[in-house]
Amino acid sequence: MYDIIILGSGPGGYVAAIRAAQLGLKVACVDKSSIGGTCLNIGCIPSKSLLDSSLKHYQLLNDYDSHGIHVEGVNLDLNIMMQRKEGVVSQLTAGVEALFKSNKVEFIEGSGKLLSNSQVEIHNENLKETLETRNIVIATGSSPIELNNIKLSKHIVDSEGALRFEEVPKRLVIIGAGVIGLELGSVWARLGSEVVILEAQDHFLPMLDKRISRQVFKEFQNQGLDIRLGSAVLNAEENQDGMKLAYSNADMETSVQADKVILAVGRKPNVKNLFDDTLLELNQEGFINVNEFCQTSLENVWAIGDVVRGPMLAHKASEEGVMVAERIADHDVGLNYDHVPNVIYTHPEVAWVGLNESQLKDQGIDFKSGSFPFLASGRALASGESAGSVFITADNATDKILGIQVFGPSAAEILQQGLIAMDQGVTSENLSKTIFSHPTVSEALHEATLAMNNKAIHIQNRKKK
Ligand code: NAD
Repeated sequence: MYDIIILGSGPGGYVAAIRAAQLGLKVACVDKSSIGGTCLNIGCIPSKSLLDSSLKHYQLLNDYDSHGIHVEGVNLDLNIMMQRKEGVVSQLTAGVEALFKSNKVEFIEGSGKLLSNSQVEIHNENLKETLETRNIVIATGSSPIELNNIKLSKHIVDSEGALRFEEVPKRLVIIGAGVIGLELGSVWARLGSEVVILEAQDHFLPMLDKRISRQVFKEFQNQGLDIRLGSAVLNAEENQDGMKLAYSNADMETSVQADKVILAVGRKPNVKNLFDDTLLELNQEGFINVNEFCQTSLENVWAIGDVVRGPMLAHKASEEGVMVAERIADHDVGLNYDHVPNVIYTHPEVAWVGLNESQLKDQGIDFKSGSFPFLASGRALASGESAGSVFITADNATDKILGIQVFGPSAAEILQQGLIAMDQGVTSENLSKTIFSHPTVSEALHEATLAMNNKAIHIQNRKKK
């Protein structure tokens, strides 16, 4: 009898397994494919490896001359770049395997199916058995959404296929200007593809305030991403020249030719064949229904990560994994879902947390805001990374920080500093009194906070009314 059987070994499942084992529980973690889930094997980690490699290539070709460094004879060896990526993945998955061993988590290779709240059927090529357990945690993640009119093929791939191109496509079309579309579009544009991104919505990155999404859009267009908003894809047709994608834009039908197409229109929860229909409640979008503590409609069955509501982010899944493991061990813990950070790992990065200005207005919250452009940051200028800004909002009455959006150098790290302050309930005034090292790009957060209170030093403050 196990204390917990966890289905899925991604950043939700494996973290839950390790934490539960640390708490003295008997844990098995079941996965039908390699340990580490989407994030380690075909998501966050390999894509970051390619993002870093491709950035080095781009910078060698485009940025070094301005530093007085002339580089000739740059050769791209995509094969080595891909091997390096696979090496990073293997190193990390081996690390998780070692952690399972040292924490005495049992890893079972196979597919798991819930028979009840205490029985899980496991099957793989060699075995079919039913295991008994006191708790079940479902952490089976998500898969790319497919479109009825666009079928995957040798020319049309999803995010996984896009990490495995054998050569740089000359003309690459991406469907969806979301997180995956922008990250993978950046990788291949930096390696030489002509990239067109077709985005159905008119509003680019709608979770960002317009001021910042406009900056992001302009910068990415300058980097060669041809982002066509309001473009709904109608169909794809194979021809001698690759694929012809028909799409409508402003009520006009038009088309674009591609050698490769990446479909990046969102992901759906993996719930198929996990349990019989009546066992667990799903919500209207097909996610497993859970409460704030990730408890499902069935006692002692929990679900975390991409199979439940909320953003599909590895760190959100991991924190839910820790929370669930600790709650099973009778610890009274919860999560602050208002403080989940989001990052798009382009260059510059885009990072945000908390409420944006239109959400604050919709909720009738009286707030103040401040911003600071990296153009006025000495460190950003010295590094040639002066695109973008920091935006911050705080409650007018309590001065508590409500939201931060950063587009610029080290945006994810800068956001994290602000998020620590937010999480600890630090006021904007207190953050503005913190001493920031000079010269760092983090000073932009400091100055944005000062600007909110009309005390900015390195930009003009708003005129007092
Ligand atoms: P997404 O929801 O971020 O973006 C999908 C985009 O596709 C949307 O802008 C949508 O309007 C557009 N779209 C939908 N149907 C379309 C159509 N028919 N034609 C044109 N455009 C269409 O989804 P994603 O980029 O596929 O990413 C999936 C999930 O994975 C997201 O939840 C994301 O947060 C997560 N993810 C996160 C990271 C990260 O944290 N850096 C990286 C990769 C993926």
